[in-house]
Amino acid sequence: MDKKNDVLIIGGGLVGASLACALENLGLRITVIESIPFENQLQPSFDERTIAITWSSRKIFEAIGIWKEIASTAHPIQKIHVSEKDRPGLIELDCSLINVEALGYVIPTRSIGKALFNRLQQSFSIQILTPANAKHVHATVDSVIVNCDEVTVPLTASLLVVADGGRSLISSIVGATKNEKKYHENIMVTRIDTDKNHYRMAFERFSKYGPIALLPIGDTSFSVAWTLPKEKTDFYMRMTDSELLFNLQKQFGFRAGKFTSIGTRKIYPLARTSVTPPSTHRTVLIGNAAHEVHPVAGQGFNLGLSDVAELAELIANAAQNETDVGHYQIIDSYFKNRANQTKRVIAFTDGLINMFDSSFPGARLFRSIGLTAIDMMPSIKKSLLRRTTGLSGAKNRLIRGISLASNQDAS
Ligand SMILES: Cc1cc2nc3c(=O)[nH]c(=O)nc-3n(C[C@H](O)[C@H](O)[C@H](O)COP(=O)(O)OP(=O)(O)OC[C@H]3O[C@@H](n4cnc5c(N)ncnc54)[C@H](O)[C@@H]3O)c2cc1C
Repeated sequence: MDKKNDVLIIGGGLVGASLACALENLGLRITVIESIPFENQLQPSFDERTIAITWSSRKIFEAIGIWKEIASTAHPIQKIHVSEKDRPGLIELDCSLINVEALGYVIPTRSIGKALFNRLQQSFSIQILTPANAKHVHATVDSVIVNCDEVTVPLTASLLVVADGGRSLISSIVGATKNEKKYHENIMVTRIDTDKNHYRMAFERFSKYGPIALLPIGDTSFSVAWTLPKEKTDFYMRMTDSELLFNLQKQFGFRAGKFTSIGTRKIYPLARTSVTPPSTHRTVLIGNAAHEVHPVAGQGFNLGLSDVAELAELIANAAQNETDVGHYQIIDSYFKNRANQTKRVIAFTDGLINMFDSSFPGARLFRSIGLTAIDMMPSIKKSLLRRTTGLSGAKNRLIRGISLASNQDAS
C-alpha cells in the first residue's frame, strides 16, 4: 500500500490540476492520477481550443500562482455584444459597468495546461502519476482506496476528489447518479480572421441553428464556437474553407466585419449533466464530473474553478486546524455551498438555448423587445455581469486573489 495521501485527485485536466495547485504549500500530501499525459496530442482537456475565463477565474489563477505565466497568451474581452440575426434588439455589456479592466479573457487551453503542469512538476508536496488510469474505488472508515491500471500498489487517501470530466466513469463507481440532457446540436470550433478591428468585443449571435460565439483574439481575429444541428455536421465538415467561410458569414452576418480566412475545425458533442452527491464516503466530485453545461455562455470551466475555490478553502481550513480533510462535515459543506451556483448556471445556459430555440408565434418579437429592454436598464446589465463574471455572492480567498498558503484572512 502506498503511503497515505491527504488528498487524491482522479483527473489532472483543467479542473483537477487547478485544485492540486491551489492546495500546494499547505503541508498536505497530494497525488494526481491522470490517464493521458499533458503533452500527448490526445489529451482531452488541453487541446487546440481557446476558452473564455471570467474576471473571477483570473483572480483564482493569480492566487494559485499561474496567472503571470498565462497572461501573455490571454486576450481580454472588454465588451460583449448579444443579438439575434435579422432581428432588431441587442444588448451591449461593457467592463466599465462593473469597474473591472476586462470581463474575461480568451486563452488557449494548452497555455493554461502548460502553466499548471510547470507548477505541479516543481512542487515537492504533489505527486503526478501519468499515464495512470483509475479503475476501482472503495472506502474504509478512515480512507478511500483507489486502484489504477499502471500502478501496482493501491493508493489511499483521506479525501478522494473525482475530476475525471464529463465522461466520468468514476462518478458511477462512487455511487453518484447522473442526470443528462443531450442536445440536438454539435458545436464546431474554429478560428477566423476579419477585415475589421474588434476592439476587444466578443459576440454572441443567435442564428438559424443556434448561437454562434466569436471570442476576440489579437486585433482582428476570433475564436469561433458555432452551434450546428447534428444531422448537418458532416455536411459542414466536408465543405472547403471558402464554402465554410461563406456559410458562417451568411449565418452570422457582417456585425464583426468581413470574414477573410478560416482555421482548422473540430466538432464537439454537447450535453448538459448534473450529478447527485456520491454514496461513497470521503468523496467529492468537481468540474465536468459534477456538472456539464452547454458552452454557449462560456461557463463550464469557470464553474469548475469555483468548485476548486470552495473545496480548497474548506480543505485549507481543516489543514490549518489539523482536522481530518475527508471528514463528512467538509463534504457536506462543499455540496451544500456549491448547489445554488451550479443550479443557477445550468438553468441560465439551458434557458439561453431554449429561449432562442423557441419557435412559438411571437417568440422572435418578444426576444427583440426583451433584448432592447435589458439594454436600456443598466442595473439589470450590472447584475447580469456580476453574476456571469463570478463577482456576486460569497467570495472565498481564491476568488479574491489570495493564496491559501498565505494565512491572510484565514478563518
Ligand atoms: C467546444 C467547447 C468550448 C468550451 N468553451 C468554454 C469556455 O469558453 N469557457 C468555459 O469556462 N468553459 C468552456 N468549455 C467547458 C470546459 O472545457 C470544461 O468545463 C472543462 O474542460 C472541464 O474540465 P475538467 O477538468 O472538469 O474535465 P476534463 O477537461 O474532461 O478533464 C478530465 C481529465 O480527467 C482525465 N481522466 C478521465 N478519466 C480518468 C481516469 N479514469 N483516471 C485518470 N484520469 C482520467 C482525462 O484524461 C482528463 O485529463 C468548453 C467546452 C467545449 C467542449
